[in-house]
Amino acid sequence: MTVRPAELIEAKRNGQEHAAADLTELILAYARDEVPDYQMAAWCMAVYFRGLTGVETYTLTDAMIRSGETLDLGAALGRRVVDKHSTGGVGDKTSIAVGPIVAACGVPFGKMSGRGLGHTGGTLDKLESIPGFRVELTTDEFVAQLRETGLAIVGQTADLVPADKKLYALRDVTGTVDIVPLIASSIMSKKLAAGADAIVLDVKVGAGAFMKTRDDAVILAEQMIDLGRRAGREVVCLLTDMSQPLGAAVGNALEIREAVDTVRGEGPDDFTELVLDACARLLALSDLGIDVDEGRRQAKRAVADGSAFDAYERWIRAQGGDPSLERLPVAHVQRQVTAPGTGVVKGLDALSVGIAALELGAGRRTKSDAIDHAVGVVCRVKRGDQVETGDVLAEVHAADEDSAAAAAEAVLAAYTLGDGQARRPDVLLDVLQ
Ligand code: URA
Repeated sequence: MTVRPAELIEAKRNGQEHAAADLTELILAYARDEVPDYQMAAWCMAVYFRGLTGVETYTLTDAMIRSGETLDLGAALGRRVVDKHSTGGVGDKTSIAVGPIVAACGVPFGKMSGRGLGHTGGTLDKLESIPGFRVELTTDEFVAQLRETGLAIVGQTADLVPADKKLYALRDVTGTVDIVPLIASSIMSKKLAAGADAIVLDVKVGAGAFMKTRDDAVILAEQMIDLGRRAGREVVCLLTDMSQPLGAAVGNALEIREAVDTVRGEGPDDFTELVLDACARLLALSDLGIDVDEGRRQAKRAVADGSAFDAYERWIRAQGGDPSLERLPVAHVQRQVTAPGTGVVKGLDALSVGIAALELGAGRRTKSDAIDHAVGVVCRVKRGDQVETGDVLAEVHAADEDSAAAAAEAVLAAYTLGDGQARRPDVLLDVLQ
Protein backbone atom coordinates (compact mmCIF):
# COMPACT_ATOMS: atom_id res chain seq x y z
CA MET A 1 0.00 0.00 0.00
CA THR A 2 1.13 3.54 -0.68
CA VAL A 3 -0.11 5.15 2.56
CA ARG A 4 1.58 4.43 5.88
CA PRO A 5 -1.04 3.58 8.54
CA ALA A 6 1.12 5.22 11.25
CA GLU A 7 0.97 8.53 9.35
CA LEU A 8 -2.82 8.34 9.08
CA ILE A 9 -3.11 7.56 12.81
CA GLU A 10 -0.95 10.58 13.63
CA ALA A 11 -2.88 12.79 11.21
CA LYS A 12 -6.19 11.81 12.78
CA ARG A 13 -4.77 12.14 16.29
CA ASN A 14 -3.77 15.72 15.34
CA GLY A 15 -7.26 16.47 14.06
CA GLN A 16 -6.48 16.48 10.33
CA GLU A 17 -8.93 15.40 7.64
CA HIS A 18 -7.94 12.37 5.54
CA ALA A 19 -7.82 12.49 1.76
CA ALA A 20 -10.52 10.15 0.42
CA ALA A 21 -8.00 7.99 -1.46
CA ASP A 22 -5.89 7.48 1.69
CA LEU A 23 -8.83 6.51 3.88
CA THR A 24 -10.17 4.14 1.23
CA GLU A 25 -6.79 2.48 0.93
CA LEU A 26 -6.48 2.07 4.71
CA ILE A 27 -9.85 0.33 4.96
CA LEU A 28 -9.36 -1.93 1.94
CA ALA A 29 -5.85 -2.87 3.10
CA TYR A 30 -7.23 -3.68 6.57
CA ALA A 31 -9.88 -5.91 5.00
CA ARG A 32 -7.10 -7.73 3.09
CA ASP A 33 -5.20 -8.29 6.39
CA GLU A 34 -2.43 -5.92 5.29
CA VAL A 35 -2.90 -3.55 8.25
CA PRO A 36 -2.55 -5.09 11.72
CA ASP A 37 -5.34 -4.85 14.30
CA TYR A 38 -3.23 -2.72 16.67
CA GLN A 39 -2.88 0.05 14.09
CA MET A 40 -6.57 -0.05 13.18
CA ALA A 41 -7.48 0.05 16.90
CA ALA A 42 -5.27 3.11 17.36
CA TRP A 43 -6.94 4.78 14.37
CA CYS A 44 -10.42 4.05 15.83
CA MET A 45 -9.37 5.58 19.14
CA ALA A 46 -8.08 8.67 17.32
CA VAL A 47 -11.51 8.90 15.65
CA TYR A 48 -13.11 8.71 19.09
CA PHE A 49 -11.26 11.88 20.12
CA ARG A 50 -11.23 13.74 16.78
CA GLY A 51 -14.31 12.50 14.91
CA LEU A 52 -14.79 12.22 11.16
CA THR A 53 -16.20 14.80 8.76
CA GLY A 54 -19.31 13.97 6.73
CA VAL A 55 -17.14 13.33 3.67
CA GLU A 56 -14.78 11.07 5.64
CA THR A 57 -17.71 9.10 7.10
CA TYR A 58 -19.10 8.57 3.61
CA THR A 59 -15.67 7.57 2.27
CA LEU A 60 -15.31 5.04 5.10
CA THR A 61 -18.79 3.65 4.41
CA ASP A 62 -18.12 3.38 0.69
CA ALA A 63 -14.75 1.69 1.25
CA MET A 64 -16.35 -0.85 3.58
CA ILE A 65 -19.00 -1.62 0.97
CA ARG A 66 -16.27 -2.07 -1.66
CA SER A 67 -14.46 -4.59 0.56
CA GLY A 68 -17.02 -7.26 -0.41
CA GLU A 69 -19.87 -8.23 -2.70
CA THR A 70 -22.98 -6.12 -3.06
CA LEU A 71 -26.53 -7.18 -3.78
CA ASP A 72 -29.04 -5.51 -6.03
CA LEU A 73 -32.31 -6.80 -4.65
CA GLY A 74 -34.27 -4.19 -6.60
CA ALA A 75 -32.93 -5.54 -9.91
CA ALA A 76 -33.34 -9.18 -8.80
CA LEU A 77 -36.99 -8.67 -7.87
CA GLY A 78 -37.86 -5.97 -10.37
CA ARG A 79 -39.31 -4.01 -7.44
CA ARG A 80 -38.34 -1.12 -5.24
CA VAL A 81 -36.96 -2.76 -2.09
CA VAL A 82 -37.34 -1.37 1.42
CA ASP A 83 -35.34 -2.37 4.49
CA LYS A 84 -35.36 -1.56 8.19
CA HIS A 85 -32.74 -1.57 10.88
CA SER A 86 -32.73 -0.97 14.59
CA THR A 87 -29.66 0.25 16.44
CA GLY A 88 -30.41 -2.39 19.08
CA GLY A 89 -32.05 -2.58 22.46
CA VAL A 90 -33.81 -4.72 25.05
CA GLY A 91 -36.94 -6.62 23.95
CA ASP A 92 -36.61 -5.36 20.39
CA LYS A 93 -38.37 -7.95 18.26
CA THR A 94 -39.76 -5.36 15.83
CA SER A 95 -38.54 -6.87 12.54
CA ILE A 96 -40.14 -10.23 13.35
CA ALA A 97 -43.56 -8.58 13.54
CA VAL A 98 -42.98 -5.94 10.86
CA GLY A 99 -41.81 -8.41 8.18
CA PRO A 100 -45.04 -10.45 7.92
CA ILE A 101 -47.27 -7.35 8.05
CA VAL A 102 -45.36 -5.55 5.30
CA ALA A 103 -45.23 -8.74 3.19
CA ALA A 104 -48.99 -9.23 3.66
CA CYS A 105 -49.45 -5.72 2.26
CA GLY A 106 -47.67 -6.83 -0.92
CA VAL A 107 -44.22 -5.34 -0.32
CA PRO A 108 -41.19 -7.68 -0.31
CA PHE A 109 -39.24 -7.56 2.94
CA GLY A 110 -35.77 -9.05 2.72
CA LYS A 111 -33.48 -8.38 5.60
CA MET A 112 -30.04 -9.34 6.78
CA SER A 113 -29.89 -9.29 10.56
CA GLY A 114 -27.32 -9.70 13.28
CA ARG A 115 -26.84 -11.55 16.52
CA GLY A 116 -26.99 -10.04 19.96
CA LEU A 117 -23.96 -9.20 22.01
CA GLY A 118 -23.95 -7.94 25.57
CA HIS A 119 -27.35 -6.93 26.91
CA THR A 120 -28.94 -6.36 23.49
CA GLY A 121 -30.70 -9.24 21.76
CA GLY A 122 -30.24 -10.15 18.10
CA THR A 123 -32.99 -11.00 15.63
CA LEU A 124 -31.17 -14.14 14.42
CA ASP A 125 -30.91 -15.54 17.95
CA LYS A 126 -34.63 -14.94 18.48
CA LEU A 127 -35.51 -16.68 15.20
CA GLU A 128 -33.32 -19.65 16.10
CA SER A 129 -35.62 -20.44 19.03
CA ILE A 130 -38.07 -21.65 16.35
CA PRO A 131 -37.42 -25.39 15.80
CA GLY A 132 -35.82 -26.02 12.40
CA PHE A 133 -35.52 -22.36 11.38
CA ARG A 134 -32.47 -21.72 9.15
CA VAL A 135 -30.83 -18.29 9.29
CA GLU A 136 -27.90 -19.20 7.03
CA LEU A 137 -29.20 -18.98 3.47
CA THR A 138 -27.01 -18.48 0.40
CA THR A 139 -27.55 -15.27 -1.52
CA ASP A 140 -29.40 -17.23 -4.23
CA GLU A 141 -31.68 -18.91 -1.66
CA PHE A 142 -32.33 -15.55 -0.02
CA VAL A 143 -33.36 -13.92 -3.31
CA ALA A 144 -35.43 -16.97 -4.38
CA GLN A 145 -37.33 -17.03 -1.07
CA LEU A 146 -37.95 -13.31 -1.26
CA ARG A 147 -39.35 -13.74 -4.74
CA GLU A 148 -41.57 -16.70 -3.78
CA THR A 149 -42.81 -15.73 -0.28
CA GLY A 150 -42.11 -12.00 -0.18
CA LEU A 151 -40.26 -12.38 3.12
CA ALA A 152 -36.84 -13.55 4.27
CA ILE A 153 -34.72 -12.66 7.30
CA VAL A 154 -31.25 -14.16 7.22
CA GLY A 155 -27.74 -13.74 8.63
CA GLN A 156 -25.36 -11.42 6.84
CA THR A 157 -23.47 -13.46 4.24
CA ALA A 158 -19.69 -13.67 4.79
CA ASP A 159 -18.99 -11.72 1.60
CA LEU A 160 -21.14 -8.71 2.47
CA VAL A 161 -19.05 -5.86 3.95
CA PRO A 162 -16.24 -8.05 5.34
CA ALA A 163 -14.37 -4.90 6.42
CA ASP A 164 -17.19 -4.07 8.85
CA LYS A 165 -17.25 -7.58 10.24
CA LYS A 166 -13.53 -7.31 11.05
CA LEU A 167 -13.66 -3.73 12.26
CA TYR A 168 -16.74 -4.31 14.43
CA ALA A 169 -15.12 -7.30 16.16
CA LEU A 170 -12.03 -5.16 16.79
CA ARG A 171 -14.06 -2.20 18.11
CA ASP A 172 -15.94 -4.54 20.41
CA VAL A 173 -12.76 -5.36 22.34
CA THR A 174 -10.95 -2.01 22.13
CA GLY A 175 -13.45 0.39 23.69
CA THR A 176 -14.37 1.89 20.31
CA VAL A 177 -17.96 0.74 19.74
CA ASP A 178 -19.78 3.88 20.84
CA ILE A 179 -18.34 6.30 18.30
CA VAL A 180 -21.09 7.90 16.25
CA PRO A 181 -19.44 8.04 12.77
CA LEU A 182 -18.20 4.45 13.18
CA ILE A 183 -21.69 3.23 14.18
CA ALA A 184 -23.29 5.19 11.34
CA SER A 185 -20.89 3.81 8.72
CA SER A 186 -21.13 0.27 10.13
CA ILE A 187 -24.92 0.20 9.96
CA MET A 188 -25.28 2.04 6.67
CA SER A 189 -22.56 0.07 4.86
CA LYS A 190 -24.56 -3.12 5.48
CA LYS A 191 -27.88 -1.58 4.48
CA LEU A 192 -26.46 0.00 1.31
CA ALA A 193 -24.55 -3.16 0.31
CA ALA A 194 -27.74 -5.21 0.69
CA GLY A 195 -29.29 -3.04 -2.01
CA ALA A 196 -32.30 -1.39 -0.37
CA ASP A 197 -33.67 1.66 -2.19
CA ALA A 198 -35.25 3.06 0.96
CA ILE A 199 -34.42 2.40 4.59
CA VAL A 200 -36.35 2.92 7.83
CA LEU A 201 -33.96 3.24 10.74
CA ASP A 202 -35.09 2.81 14.33
CA VAL A 203 -32.62 4.72 16.47
CA LYS A 204 -33.03 3.69 20.08
CA VAL A 205 -32.35 6.17 22.86
CA GLY A 206 -32.04 5.52 26.58
CA ALA A 207 -30.39 3.29 29.17
CA GLY A 208 -30.82 0.08 27.15
CA ALA A 209 -29.43 1.54 23.90
CA PHE A 210 -26.00 2.54 22.53
CA MET A 211 -27.20 6.15 22.44
CA LYS A 212 -28.02 7.12 26.02
CA THR A 213 -29.27 10.65 25.31
CA ARG A 214 -31.65 12.11 22.78
CA ASP A 215 -28.99 14.58 21.57
CA ASP A 216 -26.60 11.72 20.74
CA ALA A 217 -29.39 9.77 19.04
CA VAL A 218 -30.23 12.79 16.86
CA ILE A 219 -26.57 13.15 15.83
CA LEU A 220 -26.42 9.45 14.88
CA ALA A 221 -29.73 9.69 12.99
CA GLU A 222 -28.55 12.77 11.07
CA GLN A 223 -25.29 11.10 10.09
CA MET A 224 -27.11 8.01 8.80
CA ILE A 225 -29.60 10.14 6.85
CA ASP A 226 -26.66 12.03 5.36
CA LEU A 227 -24.94 8.77 4.32
CA GLY A 228 -28.16 7.57 2.70
CA ARG A 229 -28.54 10.85 0.81
CA ARG A 230 -24.94 10.76 -0.43
CA ALA A 231 -25.58 7.19 -1.68
CA GLY A 232 -28.81 8.25 -3.39
CA ARG A 233 -31.17 6.32 -1.09
CA GLU A 234 -34.10 7.50 0.96
CA VAL A 235 -33.74 7.20 4.74
CA VAL A 236 -36.32 7.84 7.46
CA CYS A 237 -35.23 7.67 11.10
CA LEU A 238 -37.60 6.88 13.95
CA LEU A 239 -36.24 7.96 17.32
CA THR A 240 -37.69 5.55 19.86
CA ASP A 241 -37.55 5.10 23.61
CA MET A 242 -35.21 2.47 25.03
CA SER A 243 -35.12 3.69 28.62
CA GLN A 244 -37.36 0.70 29.41
CA PRO A 245 -37.69 -2.61 27.49
CA LEU A 246 -39.82 -2.57 24.36
CA GLY A 247 -43.09 -4.48 24.84
CA ALA A 248 -43.18 -6.99 27.68
CA ALA A 249 -40.96 -9.92 26.66
CA VAL A 250 -37.16 -10.00 26.86
CA GLY A 251 -35.61 -13.33 25.83
CA ASN A 252 -35.63 -15.25 22.59
CA ALA A 253 -38.63 -17.64 22.51
CA LEU A 254 -40.61 -15.26 24.75
CA GLU A 255 -40.07 -12.50 22.19
CA ILE A 256 -41.13 -14.75 19.31
CA ARG A 257 -44.44 -15.39 21.12
CA GLU A 258 -44.92 -11.66 21.63
CA ALA A 259 -44.09 -10.86 18.00
CA VAL A 260 -46.64 -13.46 16.84
CA ASP A 261 -49.26 -12.12 19.28
CA THR A 262 -48.65 -8.69 17.76
CA VAL A 263 -48.97 -9.97 14.19
CA ARG A 264 -52.37 -11.35 15.32
CA GLY A 265 -53.39 -8.03 16.88
CA GLU A 266 -52.93 -9.19 20.49
CA GLY A 267 -49.56 -7.64 21.34
CA PRO A 268 -48.67 -5.09 24.03
CA ASP A 269 -49.79 -1.54 23.20
CA ASP A 270 -46.37 0.13 23.08
CA PHE A 271 -44.85 -2.55 20.87
CA THR A 272 -47.93 -2.64 18.59
CA GLU A 273 -47.68 1.15 18.12
CA LEU A 274 -44.03 0.96 17.12
CA VAL A 275 -44.64 -1.96 14.75
CA LEU A 276 -47.49 -0.10 13.01
CA ASP A 277 -45.39 3.08 12.78
CA ALA A 278 -42.50 1.19 11.20
CA CYS A 279 -44.85 -0.64 8.79
CA ALA A 280 -46.56 2.62 7.80
CA ARG A 281 -43.20 4.26 7.00
CA LEU A 282 -41.95 1.22 5.06
CA LEU A 283 -45.16 1.02 3.01
CA ALA A 284 -45.01 4.76 2.29
CA LEU A 285 -41.44 4.35 0.97
CA SER A 286 -42.38 1.30 -1.13
CA ASP A 287 -43.65 1.24 -4.72
CA LEU A 288 -47.30 1.03 -3.57
CA GLY A 289 -47.59 4.79 -4.04
CA ILE A 290 -49.35 5.42 -0.71
CA ASP A 291 -48.71 7.86 2.12
CA VAL A 292 -47.95 7.10 5.78
CA ASP A 293 -51.60 7.30 6.91
CA GLU A 294 -52.73 4.88 4.22
CA GLY A 295 -49.72 2.68 5.05
CA ARG A 296 -50.89 2.50 8.65
CA ARG A 297 -54.44 1.66 7.57
CA GLN A 298 -53.21 -1.15 5.32
CA ALA A 299 -50.91 -2.52 8.04
CA LYS A 300 -53.79 -2.55 10.56
CA ARG A 301 -56.04 -4.29 8.03
CA ALA A 302 -53.42 -7.02 7.38
CA VAL A 303 -53.30 -7.69 11.13
CA ALA A 304 -57.08 -7.64 11.56
CA ASP A 305 -57.93 -9.91 8.59
CA GLY A 306 -55.30 -12.55 9.47
CA SER A 307 -53.24 -12.09 6.29
CA ALA A 308 -50.22 -10.94 8.33
CA PHE A 309 -50.36 -14.14 10.41
CA ASP A 310 -50.66 -16.23 7.21
CA ALA A 311 -47.55 -14.44 5.91
CA TYR A 312 -45.76 -15.26 9.18
CA GLU A 313 -46.54 -18.97 8.87
CA ARG A 314 -45.51 -19.07 5.18
CA TRP A 315 -42.24 -17.33 5.99
CA ILE A 316 -41.28 -19.59 8.90
CA ARG A 317 -42.06 -22.74 6.87
CA ALA A 318 -40.09 -21.40 3.88
CA GLN A 319 -37.03 -21.11 6.11
CA GLY A 320 -37.47 -24.66 7.44
CA GLY A 321 -39.11 -23.74 10.76
CA ASP A 322 -42.25 -24.93 12.55
CA PRO A 323 -44.52 -21.91 13.13
CA SER A 324 -46.57 -23.61 15.88
CA LEU A 325 -46.06 -21.69 19.14
CA GLU A 326 -46.41 -24.95 21.10
CA ARG A 327 -43.08 -26.05 19.66
CA LEU A 328 -41.16 -23.11 21.16
CA PRO A 329 -38.94 -23.99 24.14
CA VAL A 330 -40.35 -23.29 27.63
CA ALA A 331 -38.20 -22.61 30.71
CA HIS A 332 -38.32 -25.12 33.60
CA VAL A 333 -38.79 -22.49 36.30
CA GLN A 334 -41.19 -19.55 36.22
CA ARG A 335 -41.23 -17.11 39.09
CA GLN A 336 -43.28 -13.99 39.67
CA VAL A 337 -41.85 -10.66 40.83
CA THR A 338 -44.43 -8.76 42.88
CA ALA A 339 -44.81 -5.12 43.89
CA PRO A 340 -43.46 -4.35 47.38
CA GLY A 341 -45.76 -1.32 47.69
CA THR A 342 -48.44 0.77 46.05
CA GLY A 343 -47.72 3.50 43.50
CA VAL A 344 -47.01 4.36 39.90
CA VAL A 345 -44.08 2.80 38.03
CA LYS A 346 -41.68 5.73 37.57
CA GLY A 347 -38.91 3.75 35.93
CA LEU A 348 -38.07 0.31 34.57
CA ASP A 349 -34.38 0.30 33.74
CA ALA A 350 -33.87 -1.36 30.35
CA LEU A 351 -30.18 -2.04 30.93
CA SER A 352 -30.83 -3.88 34.23
CA VAL A 353 -33.57 -6.02 32.65
CA GLY A 354 -31.31 -6.74 29.67
CA ILE A 355 -28.48 -7.81 31.96
CA ALA A 356 -30.86 -9.96 34.07
CA ALA A 357 -31.95 -11.75 30.86
CA LEU A 358 -28.31 -12.13 29.83
CA GLU A 359 -27.43 -13.67 33.23
CA LEU A 360 -30.33 -16.10 32.81
CA GLY A 361 -28.67 -17.28 29.59
CA ALA A 362 -30.76 -15.40 27.00
CA GLY A 363 -27.68 -13.70 25.55
CA ARG A 364 -23.98 -14.27 25.20
CA ARG A 365 -21.04 -12.59 26.92
CA THR A 366 -18.58 -13.73 24.28
CA LYS A 367 -19.23 -14.65 20.67
CA SER A 368 -18.86 -18.39 21.34
CA ASP A 369 -21.35 -18.61 24.28
CA ALA A 370 -24.41 -20.84 23.75
CA ILE A 371 -27.86 -19.30 24.24
CA ASP A 372 -30.76 -20.73 26.26
CA HIS A 373 -33.67 -19.79 24.02
CA ALA A 374 -36.35 -20.50 26.65
CA VAL A 375 -35.25 -18.09 29.39
CA GLY A 376 -35.93 -14.40 29.91
CA VAL A 377 -38.13 -11.85 31.60
CA VAL A 378 -41.69 -10.72 30.89
CA CYS A 379 -42.40 -7.22 32.23
CA ARG A 380 -46.12 -7.21 33.02
CA VAL A 381 -46.16 -3.55 34.08
CA LYS A 382 -44.27 -0.66 32.58
CA ARG A 383 -43.59 3.00 33.22
CA GLY A 384 -46.76 4.92 34.00
CA ASP A 385 -48.75 1.89 35.26
CA GLN A 386 -50.46 1.99 38.66
CA VAL A 387 -49.69 -1.00 40.93
CA GLU A 388 -50.92 -2.23 44.31
CA THR A 389 -48.87 -4.19 46.83
CA GLY A 390 -48.56 -7.80 45.67
CA ASP A 391 -49.42 -7.13 42.00
CA VAL A 392 -47.27 -9.03 39.53
CA LEU A 393 -44.62 -6.69 38.09
CA ALA A 394 -42.81 -9.26 36.00
CA GLU A 395 -42.20 -12.96 35.43
CA VAL A 396 -38.80 -14.56 35.33
CA HIS A 397 -38.34 -17.64 33.11
CA ALA A 398 -35.24 -19.55 34.19
CA ALA A 399 -33.40 -22.83 33.79
CA ASP A 400 -33.15 -23.40 37.58
CA GLU A 401 -34.24 -21.99 40.94
CA ASP A 402 -30.94 -20.27 41.73
CA SER A 403 -30.79 -18.26 38.53
CA ALA A 404 -34.53 -17.48 38.88
CA ALA A 405 -33.96 -16.05 42.37
CA ALA A 406 -31.01 -13.90 41.25
CA ALA A 407 -32.93 -12.58 38.22
CA ALA A 408 -36.05 -11.88 40.29
CA GLU A 409 -33.98 -9.73 42.63
CA ALA A 410 -32.38 -7.86 39.74
CA VAL A 411 -35.72 -7.28 38.00
CA LEU A 412 -37.32 -5.97 41.20
CA ALA A 413 -34.41 -3.54 41.58
CA ALA A 414 -34.98 -2.37 37.97
CA TYR A 415 -38.43 -1.03 38.92
CA THR A 416 -38.83 2.38 40.62
CA LEU A 417 -42.20 3.06 42.22
CA GLY A 418 -43.37 6.53 43.19
CA ASP A 419 -46.28 8.91 43.33
CA GLY A 420 -48.05 10.49 40.41
CA GLN A 421 -50.63 9.99 37.71
CA ALA A 422 -50.85 6.69 35.85
CA ARG A 423 -50.00 7.34 32.16
CA ARG A 424 -47.93 5.31 29.74
CA PRO A 425 -45.30 7.32 27.81
CA ASP A 426 -44.99 7.26 24.01
CA VAL A 427 -42.42 4.95 22.43
CA LEU A 428 -42.01 7.08 19.30
CA LEU A 429 -40.09 10.22 20.29
CA ASP A 430 -39.46 11.80 16.91
CA VAL A 431 -39.20 11.17 13.17
CA LEU A 432 -36.25 12.61 11.23
CA GLN A 433 -35.78 12.52 7.45
N1 URA B 1 -24.78 -1.95 15.03
C1 URA B 1 -23.93 -2.10 13.99
O1 URA B 1 -24.22 -2.81 13.03
N2 URA B 1 -22.73 -1.45 14.04
C2 URA B 1 -22.37 -0.67 15.06
O2 URA B 1 -21.29 -0.12 15.03
C3 URA B 1 -23.27 -0.52 16.15
C4 URA B 1 -24.48 -1.17 16.10
